[in-house]
Amino acid sequence: MSSENNASLTPGSEEAAVSRNFIEFEIDKDLENKRYDHVVTRFPPEPNGYLHIGHAKSILLNNKLATEYNGQFNLRFDDTNPTKEDVEYVDSILEDVRWILGDLDMERVFYASDYFDMMYEKAIILIKKGLAYVCDLNADEIREYRGTLKEPGKNSPYRNRSVEENLDLFERMKNGEFKDGEKVLRAKIDMSSPNINMRDPIIYRIARMTHHNTGDKWCIYPMYDFAHPLEDAFEGITHSICTLEFEDHRPLYEWVVNNTDFDNPPRQIEFAKLYLTNVVTGKRYIKRLVEEGIVDGWDDPRLVTISALRRRGFTPESIKMFMELSGVSKANASSDYAMLEYCIREDLKLKRPRAMAVLDPLKLVITNYPENEIEYLDADNNLENEELGKRKVPFGRELYIERDDFMIEPPKKYKRLYPDNEVRLMNAYFVKCTGYDTDENGEVTCVYATYDPETKSGSGFTGRKVKGTIHWVAAETAIDATVRLYENIVDEEKGVYNEDGSLNLNSNSLTVLENCKLEPSLGEANKGDSFQFVRQGFFNVDYKDSTDEHKVFNRIVSLKSSYKPGK
Ligand code: ATP
Ligand code: MG
Repeated sequence: MSSENNASLTPGSEEAAVSRNFIEFEIDKDLENKRYDHVVTRFPPEPNGYLHIGHAKSILLNNKLATEYNGQFNLRFDDTNPTKEDVEYVDSILEDVRWILGDLDMERVFYASDYFDMMYEKAIILIKKGLAYVCDLNADEIREYRGTLKEPGKNSPYRNRSVEENLDLFERMKNGEFKDGEKVLRAKIDMSSPNINMRDPIIYRIARMTHHNTGDKWCIYPMYDFAHPLEDAFEGITHSICTLEFEDHRPLYEWVVNNTDFDNPPRQIEFAKLYLTNVVTGKRYIKRLVEEGIVDGWDDPRLVTISALRRRGFTPESIKMFMELSGVSKANASSDYAMLEYCIREDLKLKRPRAMAVLDPLKLVITNYPENEIEYLDADNNLENEELGKRKVPFGRELYIERDDFMIEPPKKYKRLYPDNEVRLMNAYFVKCTGYDTDENGEVTCVYATYDPETKSGSGFTGRKVKGTIHWVAAETAIDATVRLYENIVDEEKGVYNEDGSLNLNSNSLTVLENCKLEPSLGEANKGDSFQFVRQGFFNVDYKDSTDEHKVFNRIVSLKSSYKPGK
């Protein structure tokens, strides 16, 4: 866990978010000093992949700041690099941001590519001020001239071109008179700056690429370090919040906005990226898993893309709670995946109904219960939240129980079913094991028991106690379902990559149980609905693969926790 500023948080409580982060202190100062009189933030994804949980952190942080200071929040597609971008990603990003925030104001959705004309004009301003020049050095030469961390760079021989010549050449670059890569426009800053980003960075390149928005209108495209600050400034962003890898770029960010005639330019503030233990968030890595067919698309429930978390059954509330707990910090650290699991358990435990589901079924026959009879027993939908009411659960002579709830020769502390032992069937009766059948391999195929009608749940029976309670599903009315269990996709011990560059996958990341028996109330569940299967965890109905005829459930999280709040 990454931060010192969240120790006082009690998850789930409304007052939890009282501790302020360092960005809020910076904004407070800016408002006090009248540097700004309002707050506008943005989330600027590049549409070159699906958003992941790290992006959720940035979305929630920026939106929260805007809300808290009564300001505005923009979603801006940073679509200035046409080779890697795709409309599919734009659509998925819109959906994910809307889901995380619960709402999205389409009036505040912007596209950097809509500003290409304005950026071009700003480049001309720089040229006119003598702050930008057209350079004919090729890529290798530019690298050579740039110098190193230890040595200053050398001025380009084209650095002293006249303003007129630069204006003419830049226009001709735009008009397509030169080949790709033949010329670039560079900012004229300082080739001996200790910050390499300031050594006359390229701000425009020639590249004949079709853009998803502007088509073939442009054959010159602005570089990120020039385009991004301008996009912020055009939108009137006040606080441009980004991750730490841009810290070294901040002087250039300031140089761009300070030299391009803005009244009240934005300022950049960096924070540490969200990293999760044993989970990989990088777009490039996820893309590889998708493209190599290792996962079932960008929303495979084992991934931590926002769409995968949604499909798996995580809620926006749980993700928000997780972000509050992990804090906003200036120092890189990893948050514990177990903490994310804790948050989804906390969110669902009172909200969602419980039900009985047997994942690895073993037949239990109650030999003294009448044949062909089904009775309906009362069961609480959620013992901790009475508001969720009760339901009727069918009970009969033949039931399914979990295979591991019966043992022929149990170890000492085993409290479940074994020969001559009595347990409670949850919501039903005490049953005592009277025998079992095995097949030729010694595998148990059926368990026999007798029940005591006096011990019915809710009857107030106090005659004797039993140590164990197990869940069950009546065979006759059970519905068949597929249940999928997940583990991390990365092999935790070995790291992400093998020495040869191949991916180190956990071969147990997906377990598909095809023969599960569920109580019939679960037959009514809709796609996306989630439940607590008692003793098993939280599960939801898969959006993609579940049908009315055959339900498919994903395990969101088990009930066991390795995370302790406050630690
Ligand atoms: P990735 O590193 O996964 O490829 P990216 O940084 O290239 O992501 P962008 O689309 O450029 O993805 O990011 C959009 C915004 O999300 C940026 O402001 C970036 O700083 C922020 N962001 C990306 N990853 C994280 C993270 N792990 N934690 C917090 N913010 C992040
Ligand atoms: Mg990026």
